[in-house]
Amino acid sequence: MAAFETHIAHLVRSVSLSELTKHLEFEMLGMRRFGFVSGQWLSFKQVKPDGEELTRAYSIASPPGEDPRFALCLNRVQDGFMSNFLCDMQAGDEIHCQGPFGDFILRPPLRDTIFIATGTGISPFRSMLHWLLTDQLRHQGKQFWLVLGSRYERDIYYHVAAAWSGKVCAAMCRNTFRALRKAGLTCTPTFAGSIKWSKRIASCLGRWAGTGSLSGMRSMTEAQSPFSR
Ligand SMILES: Cc1cc2nc3c(=O)[nH]c(=O)nc-3n(C[C@H](O)[C@H](O)[C@H](O)COP(=O)(O)OP(=O)(O)OC[C@H]3O[C@@H](n4cnc5c(N)ncnc54)[C@H](O)[C@@H]3O)c2cc1C
Repeated sequence: MAAFETHIAHLVRSVSLSELTKHLEFEMLGMRRFGFVSGQWLSFKQVKPDGEELTRAYSIASPPGEDPRFALCLNRVQDGFMSNFLCDMQAGDEIHCQGPFGDFILRPPLRDTIFIATGTGISPFRSMLHWLLTDQLRHQGKQFWLVLGSRYERDIYYHVAAAWSGKVCAAMCRNTFRALRKAGLTCTPTFAGSIKWSKRIASCLGRWAGTGSLSGMRSMTEAQSPFSR
């Protein structure tokens, strides 16, 4: 079986999104364009100080473009090696990776869609939404809902979905309605500020003929998702 090609990515920029979470921007060395489809992930390799080689998967959090760049949304895991190694990388540092892999991607026909994520599970959806919303031919005027489960307001990454503007609605578990309004995001008061929002989504989905997509910690997304019922 042919081995997967290994790429070298170097860190261009690292931005803190919260105490434990970072947005990392990389560039693939020696490539003019890094081709992938929104929703795919990369496999990163690093040798630990004791010689063990670790491989971990990370979803691409940026949309595909005409350049060799891609971004990750990374959570530091306590006592985890790779997540902390990546979060500690400095601009210019290099790491080996393979991919892209995965078929968790948008499939035609495009329909009104609810994306449900928790934590860094936002990564594939950030990529998809940025890709969709940059071009009318891509989003075709469909409605997209991003429902992001977050225990605390400080854990709302990419606060900013303002940039995604009116087409994306977000709902959070607690205390987030005001923050979203401040960020200029269109929100649905039905969901905001309520930990019972899963029931409300379920009632909304009673009338729903679109697509649902889940990303994030399994226990959290399943607990909150009407799709799994
Ligand atoms: C397809 C795919 C895409 C992924 N995309 C992302 C992504 O975009 N961003 C991201 O941050 N992670 C993502 N992950 C998770 C990532 O691959 C690693 O599992 C994670 O970073 C932990 O790796 P580590 O080496 O730091 O810790 P490990 O050494 O693997 O784990 C250390 C300890 O922490 C526990 N642990 C592992 N993960 C978590 C967690 N999330 N919360 C609590 N405890 C945990 C382990 O069970 C273990 O006990 C993805 C995983 C998959 C399979």
